[in-house]
Amino acid sequence: MLPALLLAPALLAGCAGAAANSSPTTQGPASASQSDSTAGSVSPTAGSTETPTPTVSATPTASAAPVNWDSGGRGTPAMAAGLPSPTDWYAAAFGAPSEQKVLYLTFDDGPARDTEALLTELEAAGGKATFFVLGQQAAEIPSMVRRIVAGGHAIGNHTWDHPELTSLSTAEVADQLSRTTEAVNSAVPGGMGSCMRPPYGLIDDNVAAVSLAQQLQPILWTAHAEDWNQPSVTAMVADLREATRPGSVILLHDGGGGRQNTLDAVAAMLPEWRAQGYILAPIPACVRSPG
Ligand SMILES: [Zn+2]
Repeated sequence: MLPALLLAPALLAGCAGAAANSSPTTQGPASASQSDSTAGSVSPTAGSTETPTPTVSATPTASAAPVNWDSGGRGTPAMAAGLPSPTDWYAAAFGAPSEQKVLYLTFDDGPARDTEALLTELEAAGGKATFFVLGQQAAEIPSMVRRIVAGGHAIGNHTWDHPELTSLSTAEVADQLSRTTEAVNSAVPGGMGSCMRPPYGLIDDNVAAVSLAQQLQPILWTAHAEDWNQPSVTAMVADLREATRPGSVILLHDGGGGRQNTLDAVAAMLPEWRAQGYILAPIPACVRSPG
């Protein structure tokens, strides 16, 4: 069995655009610093945080090159026969890398107490996002699941209670995902999109196979603002500016603890993104099919 790998760091935007930046700035899989002492806790007030990677910053550059999903040096696993490569997953989710000014904001670990304020911010700006929800949270606050869908946002599966999926049996992984899909779909029939994000970005062949068997496309991210560490709004805004380039998938959180700084940083960026002509869109694979 292949070890769990973090795919995301090497997909950082700094790897993008051979013409603008020919040398990848991040190499290989980063180890997950598992400092999430409350993994599995899903109370809206708990301190559960995503801990996807150590801080990995792309080399500062003025480049606005689009994300290159197939950038070298990322140490992607050789997936088991029959499984699509990570690049293929992304191609399936996003189509070909685009130079269109689209940003995919993603919010994990909700719905929770800050979700409503976030939705209000996004709606005021006309932005759409993808919410990777925890099943337990969705079951607790089905009204917020309905609000997310009614706002035109997409919902993805982030497991029932945020375990490290790579430590679970096949049956347990399947249960984590299927229970979450059921919770979302009982709040909004057909509300769950065809995508999932593994907690901490931890995924291996088994997790991938189980996800795909449930028609859930694994989706990681290309950039983040390290909001699981509660940085200042100023620091988060700087990270979000750095992340702003066509096709970026930006990891943020609306649950797992108080997220006021995340809300404030997003609020600060919304007018900037608008002025630069960016569209905030839900991840295509996560948008539920009509009817
Ligand atoms: Zn998470």
